[in-house]
Amino acid sequence: MSDLPGHARVVIIGGGVVGVSALYHLARAGWTDCVLLEKNELTAGSTWHAAGNVPTFSTSWSLMNMQRYSTELYRGLGAAVDYPMNYHVTGSIRLGHSDERMQEFARARGMGLSQGMALEILTPDEIKAKYPFIETHDLKGALYDPADGDIDPAQLTQALAKGARDLGATIARFCPATGVSRE
Ligand SMILES: Cc1cc2nc3c(=O)[nH]c(=O)nc-3n(C[C@H](O)[C@H](O)[C@H](O)COP(=O)(O)OP(=O)(O)OC[C@H]3O[C@@H](n4cnc5c(N)ncnc54)[C@H](O)[C@@H]3O)c2cc1C
Repeated sequence: MSDLPGHARVVIIGGGVVGVSALYHLARAGWTDCVLLEKNELTAGSTWHAAGNVPTFSTSWSLMNMQRYSTELYRGLGAAVDYPMNYHVTGSIRLGHSDERMQEFARARGMGLSQGMALEILTPDEIKAKYPFIETHDLKGALYDPADGDIDPAQLTQALAKGARDLGATIARFCPATGVSRE
């Protein structure tokens, strides 16, 4: 491709949500002389097939923190890059059938609270109040996450791509990386 720059500070291979998000965040940090190569169309890989669930639950502090960051990014991204997209913040109820599972929820809630998230432990009656159609006879309780939701993964990727391009980053579609060498 003749319009590819001859030099770039970073070359990202793959235009799924991860590669495009990396390009967007580099551009936002001021690294705008970066290039993303996608051998097909953006989102042609796993990103195209993703259901688009956006949970924050994790037993890992750092994973939870990344997921929390994502929910905050997605809330403002459409307006920030002027690319409207479908992001629904629905909340979720994660069901616990045993004391051990409830203990795991309590630990996750503690991590979440320390990261500024509003996770709640629900009793069976509180679950029923939020979702009346549920049978609670075999439940010990639940973890409620008001920030849980879903997003359209293709729209999200295109929004990140627009934000990156607007800041000066380059995206080359239908441009496979054919080799990598280090000097
Ligand atoms: C059925 C399904 C449901 C899912 N549901 C969810 C969900 O609900 N929530 C969630 O968070 N995650 C979900 N996931 C996981 C999510 O889709 C992936 O974690 C995510 O899309 C990975 O993004 P990626 O950018 O790493 O990879 P990809 O989207 O696969 O992107 C890699 C890109 O690299 C390109 N590429 C490969 N080789 C080259 C090359 N040599 N040169 C140039 N480009 C190249 C490919 O064409 C591709 O576009 C789901 C996945 C699947 C399959």
